Amino acid sequence: MNEKLIIIGTGPAGYTAAIYAARADLAPLVFTGNQIGGQLTTTTEIENFPGFPEGIMGPELMFNMSQQAEKFGARYAYEDVLSVYREECSGLFVVTTSGGAYKAQAVIVATGAKARYLGLPGEKELIGHGLTACATCDGAFYRDVPVCVVGGGDSACEEASFLTRFASKVYLIHRRDMLRASKAMQQRVLNDPKIEPVWNSTIAAYQTDESGELCSVTLQDTLTDEQRPLDVKCVFMAIGHSPNSAFLGDLVDVDGAGFIVRTNGGTATKTPGLFAAGDVADPVYRQAISAAGMGCWAAMEAERYLLSLE
Ligand SMILES: Cc1cc2nc3c(=O)[nH]c(=O)nc-3n(C[C@H](O)[C@H](O)[C@H](O)COP(=O)(O)OP(=O)(O)OC[C@H]3O[C@@H](n4cnc5c(N)ncnc54)[C@H](O)[C@@H]3O)c2cc1C
Repeated sequence: MNEKLIIIGTGPAGYTAAIYAARADLAPLVFTGNQIGGQLTTTTEIENFPGFPEGIMGPELMFNMSQQAEKFGARYAYEDVLSVYREECSGLFVVTTSGGAYKAQAVIVATGAKARYLGLPGEKELIGHGLTACATCDGAFYRDVPVCVVGGGDSACEEASFLTRFASKVYLIHRRDMLRASKAMQQRVLNDPKIEPVWNSTIAAYQTDESGELCSVTLQDTLTDEQRPLDVKCVFMAIGHSPNSAFLGDLVDVDGAGFIVRTNGGTATKTPGLFAAGDVADPVYRQAISAAGMGCWAAMEAERYLLSLE
């Protein structure tokens, strides 16, 4: 059976697209991928998603979204999408997954982006317990304590600057002896008395307290390999993101980092009928609410596209 609409991904973008599409009677088929619920299932409390004045746990928020979409007729397939191409003769998209091949008139890609971490032992368990890749999300949890940011580009400098509102001290750990950020951004960071650059350094290990929260890191000098401890309550990783877009081949254009290029200020891509929403197509904001908003746009644009085919 040919599907009207396939949605790939079950983060805030995918679920919101599914809610809107299901309420428009499109009965979307949603591929969950192997991270059901997306990035927010890896964190604890969310304080900035509207509608929850007391905050809400990430997994609970995502479970609610999933239920809401299902209630209106979204169907889930617990499969990973391996590739998508467009069949010349029929104009249908062929979506190949770990479980088989499916055809659809329109596709919404909401596959997110993975923050890069250092790959050290114990990192996965520490996320949400003193290790994060989002100052906007987690900065306010670390008031009047020392924190550090890892990275040397514009994002790292922006995160460090933002964190000075809360933290008692912000160490900016960079493996070289100069920042890659723009001159203006460098000036801002280097002139800030709360920010201390730690040059030619990287993190070699994390230490936790008895409750499993980060309490310090081991710094390693990149020139001499010398190690020393640094007391910080949170590490903010700012060494880039990897969008999950490679499986689309040349159906989409991507920027230098792999983020899908949208062509209409909304969620259209260079391929008519293929829409992209959330972090996978958002090199700038990467927030749950902005991903959800883009999921809404994508469903409405897909609906309009499907109408145009009738
Ligand atoms: C630790 C942490 C804490 C955060 N805290 C906050 C916060 O407090 N507030 C906030 O607003 N934002 C926060 N964020 C950012 C937020 O999680 C993201 O902006 C948001 O989840 C992006 O949503 P998305 O729908 O675009 O993608 P994601 O949530 O990344 O979901 C991607 C989905 O795509 C699926 N997928 C990927 N590849 C495939 C494939 N090939 N086939 C099928 N499915 C696939 C995955 O399984 C997943 O379901 C946090 C992020 C992290 C990592």
